[in-house]
Amino acid sequence: MADNASTVEHKATFCRICEPLCGMIATVEDGKLTALRPDKEHPLSAGFACQKGIAFTEVVNDPDRVTTPLRRTETGFEAVSWDEALDDIADRLSSVVQRHGTGAVGWYMGNPGAFSYAHVLSIMAFIKGIGPGTHFYTASSQDTNCRLMASQLLYGTPISVPIPDLTRTDFLVVMGANPVVSHGSFLTAPRIKDRMHDVVKRGGRVVVIDPRKTETAAQFEWLGIVPDTDALLLLSLLQVMFADNLAHTDEIGPLVDGLDWLRAQVAPFTPEATAPHTGVDPDVARGLARDLATTPRAAMYGRLGTCVGRYGTLTSYLLDVVNLVAGNLDKPGGSVISGLGMPGQRLVNIGMGALLRRTYRRKQSRIGGFRAIIGSEPAALMAKEMHTPGERQIRAMFISAGNPVLSVPNGDELEAALDSIDLSVALDFYLTETTAHCDYILPVTTMYERDDFPLTFQPFQATPFRQATDAVIEPVGQARQEWQIVGELIRRTSVESRVFAAITRSGNALRRIGKPFNPQMLANGIIRAAAGGDAFGLRRGGLTFGRLSRDHAHGKVVSEHLKTGTLKDAISYLRGRIQLEHEDIVTEIAALARLENPEEYPLRMIGMREPRSENSWMHNAPLLMRGDRGHHGLMNADDAAELDIADGSEVQVSSPYGDITVPVTLTKDIMPGVIAVPHGWGHKGTGGWKLANKAGGANVNRLTSSEPRDVESLSGMAWLTGVPVRVDRV
Ligand code: SF4
Repeated sequence: MADNASTVEHKATFCRICEPLCGMIATVEDGKLTALRPDKEHPLSAGFACQKGIAFTEVVNDPDRVTTPLRRTETGFEAVSWDEALDDIADRLSSVVQRHGTGAVGWYMGNPGAFSYAHVLSIMAFIKGIGPGTHFYTASSQDTNCRLMASQLLYGTPISVPIPDLTRTDFLVVMGANPVVSHGSFLTAPRIKDRMHDVVKRGGRVVVIDPRKTETAAQFEWLGIVPDTDALLLLSLLQVMFADNLAHTDEIGPLVDGLDWLRAQVAPFTPEATAPHTGVDPDVARGLARDLATTPRAAMYGRLGTCVGRYGTLTSYLLDVVNLVAGNLDKPGGSVISGLGMPGQRLVNIGMGALLRRTYRRKQSRIGGFRAIIGSEPAALMAKEMHTPGERQIRAMFISAGNPVLSVPNGDELEAALDSIDLSVALDFYLTETTAHCDYILPVTTMYERDDFPLTFQPFQATPFRQATDAVIEPVGQARQEWQIVGELIRRTSVESRVFAAITRSGNALRRIGKPFNPQMLANGIIRAAAGGDAFGLRRGGLTFGRLSRDHAHGKVVSEHLKTGTLKDAISYLRGRIQLEHEDIVTEIAALARLENPEEYPLRMIGMREPRSENSWMHNAPLLMRGDRGHHGLMNADDAAELDIADGSEVQVSSPYGDITVPVTLTKDIMPGVIAVPHGWGHKGTGGWKLANKAGGANVNRLTSSEPRDVESLSGMAWLTGVPVRVDRV
């Protein structure tokens, strides 16, 4: 719609910084994005957007943004043409593969990559297609892989992940999540804070279990817990359910194998036995178990905090098992595994699950022998894979949409490793602490410069919903989309690969018939096949990519509620039953005995999210950094008094793996013995983002370990919370 005959347009689109995917209206003047405001006509976000979403105009137009290909020289980065950059990268990649094999190639994709279907699909084609032995990493081994692993154990496939039926539940227990600030994770629910208040308004309850009285806990009921002891509390909830005959055994019996085995496993973990570790009063634990098992519409939901301790897979597994045993799995208002509603979902899950389980069994990291979750290895070991000699040593590394120097354990080690390899290439729009170490930075588009359909998040929507968008502006400068860059690399490299040859042949064939390849074809196919789609012409008026972006620009709700009674479709095991019994779970339960802290590190460090940060990458937006904002931790006021530490003063935080200096704010809203430090800070001047550099801060992951013994054994998760630390006055 044009404001006048000139060039001001207001385009409906959506934000892709975090999971609610809030509706946005983009103001475009003379082809330039000049403002973003919340879309009041979006059926779910209905006029809500957070400060980060609004501030994104500043990212798109950031003068520090990389908008031309850059090559690193001895004196800094210099601009080069796309052809020069791509030819040299393709040559050097071919040479690495010729000399060392395809096992010498690695790719790391950061969290924003998951928000672009074309980005994900093209990288998969590249890294899997180039040949055997490659290394693939994502941010998932810092936040989600154990959740996927738990699903693989229980349902036979990592891609069946339950979410709380938020719009119908009457009792929501949130563990290790702070949705008021994070806006939801593994859960796409615009206005999630309002949806949680709705639970209370309809007479229900929301309980938040967390070592810190988070912004979410402050608005509902807070139950404090000692960091990294969630698994013990969950075992106690199950013990109470079985011991007090609260378990819905008759109902779930036909759905599961291993119920008696489970009962025996949890028997020793009475609330009295776990209370000294968890800090949770036994009566409170009993009440919680009873309420979960007797409230008709109840759900337990766990997120990041439950994943980044030492027992992430066990904790995620137990969360689902609590929902199951309490009779809340696959129930309205309970915990529900959703899907795209495609025909033949069960068959697809059986095939896909078998394939992914096979990959898990067969693909191992060279360092530490960790299994691959959906093909991805532990990012905590990425540096060691680069600097440890031997077969499959990484010598060519690609990094897209990520800043692992600030997000994986031991960033110092990764910086040195990146400097040591034959080829390192970043696909990014900032010169960051990571990309500063790359031979090339290839400029990519932001979300508003590309079309999109949020494929990754379709199964996690609390209200099944579809939205697709065209690009609202042309790419800024010489930016290109990741899939275009990958396509060019495939075309230019001389690496012999059957997959690459097939991709090139298909691309040529499509070009010959005047329909050059565009990944939108794939997204369109999924939309058409999914619930609400046009079933390839069989369903009149059904959705396609074009209809969504054109006729339903504000998005379309495809069903009022999540579908329940579909558990069988989500299970990949041929028997169609949930498998509770696993030797790996026995091993992890036994490992809980390792909960001791070294005496010289008496406190525990946990992470925390901040409303104006998105991991490491939005600290250069003036709107988000106003008020001379800086990095600070949160410390229990009584602990601080004992150590003679004043509010706002700098402290040194030391762990067995490293130390940082950070100012602390004192609070009573955190468990004694706990210090919370936000991640994503530690900009130290190597990056090209001036405002972020000025804000500086400390890289909290210097306190964490990149040693294989400290990586979670089943899923390769980095250990980022509950880390033993000591705090000293500076
Ligand atoms: S909550 Fe997330 S999706 Fe919504 S506007 Fe903020 S950053 Fe964007």
